[in-house]
Amino acid sequence: MQDSDWTRILRWPGYRVYRSEVNEKAKTLRLWVRRKRGNQVLRCSSCGERVGGIAEVYEREVRDLPWSEYRATVVVELYRVRCPDCGLKAEKVEQLPSNAPFSKRFEEAVGQACESAPARRVAKQWKLAESTVRAIDLRYLERWAAQRRKPALRDMGVDEIYVGRQGKFLTVVSNLETCEPLWFGRERKQETLDEFFSTQLSAFQRRAIQAACVDMWPAYRQSLERWVPQARMVYDKFHILQHASAAVDEVRRAEFFRQGGAARDVVRGKRWLLLSSWVRLDREKKQQLKQLFGLNRRVMKAYFLKESLSHLWDYTYEGAMLNYLESWIGQLRWQRLKAFEKLANLLLRHVDGILNYCRTKVPMGRVEAINGNIKALLRRGRGYSNLRYLLLKAQRLAATKTEFLVFQKAA
Ligand SMILES: [Zn+2]
Repeated sequence: MQDSDWTRILRWPGYRVYRSEVNEKAKTLRLWVRRKRGNQVLRCSSCGERVGGIAEVYEREVRDLPWSEYRATVVVELYRVRCPDCGLKAEKVEQLPSNAPFSKRFEEAVGQACESAPARRVAKQWKLAESTVRAIDLRYLERWAAQRRKPALRDMGVDEIYVGRQGKFLTVVSNLETCEPLWFGRERKQETLDEFFSTQLSAFQRRAIQAACVDMWPAYRQSLERWVPQARMVYDKFHILQHASAAVDEVRRAEFFRQGGAARDVVRGKRWLLLSSWVRLDREKKQQLKQLFGLNRRVMKAYFLKESLSHLWDYTYEGAMLNYLESWIGQLRWQRLKAFEKLANLLLRHVDGILNYCRTKVPMGRVEAINGNIKALLRRGRGYSNLRYLLLKAQRLAATKTEFLVFQKAA
């Protein structure tokens, strides 16, 4: 094959192959490339400005996309340039975005593979170390993030995610319109959210925030009141039902702890059943629940209180919503369900923020979707101790899967 043929197949814009070497035994291909005659504009890799003088010529080796079963290495002839602002620097080359020994398109391919498979599997497939795959993926995502438009934040979600004993909690701030996470903070204190407002947004950007979907958690509320006083706080369905589920669980524990013996065996492993909503259960599961309810009426009562609370969001008029909430609280009388009385008090104290659901057009269910995506990522792979990586990964997932999630919600 002639060098011009190699050039045509390699397709590195502005570069031509001037030497090639095929090793059939080792299944490797090496191509030496240099700039084409017409491609003489040099830029500084540090500032990106055009520069004139070449100070030095050198070579760099990078791994490129494989050719059939041949592993390909490209040896690039490069110039060191004298930049008036930065001094002696390497020239900027489109296919060499970092100092790592890989071409840009090789990194893109590995990054794309990481979108649908865990790093461990990608590493095996490409014969790379797992840590190398993660580093490539991170650069791939950083490049993607750098070139994309960032929409204004108007409806924000604030949520906490439990990440296990060591990391404890993450605070997740998200854009509910675009369905993507914007920022992660360690812990879930007022200072955590304060840090988001002070480091990530300008005063102008903060004033643009209209609504915030949050849990009834005082730390977040205090931070929101301080930084975005104009924003309406909305206590959303997802968070409130989390509290209701916790109340059901509390009743379950108290009741069956008292009963002991045979009853405890029926109950064992049924916790998640009690936390699932009735409509999502199949016939067999419903039967199991009924059996459980036969043993204890109070647990049944607790379960259906949680279920009926979820219908609060069927109402879109404040008056109707308030009526429903009042009659729901009315049902608690004489039940002696402490956990639910506590919940009722919590709801009454936050009733304004609950009713804000009717007064704002905040897209609901998105906090839950974003939260679910992040949890899925955390479950799928290790190595997210790097929060920046986790964030970019979740953003990319949101950007590429948004339609899928919206579709799921509608179904
Ligand atoms: Zn420069």
